[in-house]
Amino acid sequence: MESCIFCKIIKGKIPGKIIYRDTDVIVFYDISPKAPVHFLVVPVKHLPSLREVNDEDQKLLGKLLFTARKIAEDLKIAGSGYKVVMNNGKDAGQLVYHLHLHVLGGWRKKEDWVV
Ligand code: 5GP
Ligand code: ZN
Repeated sequence: MESCIFCKIIKGKIPGKIIYRDTDVIVFYDISPKAPVHFLVVPVKHLPSLREVNDEDQKLLGKLLFTARKIAEDLKIAGSGYKVVMNNGKDAGQLVYHLHLHVLGGWRKKEDWVV
């Protein structure tokens, strides 16, 4: 989708700190991190939110979670714990209408929690 910021990152039209990519999914750091480690797991396919997904997308949605787990392990935030968040729609604070998982972790102590 032409105007979508995440599609632009996927196509290399704007830079992103990319951690991982394959044909289905791309993972990059959030530009405005809300935790010591904050990355986004994004399908290559442009889906605005969960409202628009179809039966054919079930496998892709599962892959997003498996990818979140893998990268959390690789970045060594899994042992201490991490959050996986998906904002859907206006009242949830969704800003970018290209479906994505937030993965947040790496806190040293509970008082540092910001989300
Ligand atoms: P949402 O509120 O839609 O769930 O979250 C969108 C997230 O995308 C925000 O946390 C925001 O910081 C991040 N973001 C917005 N624009 C960019 C960008 O150009 N590059 C990267 N890496 N992250 C972005
Ligand atoms: Zn998009």
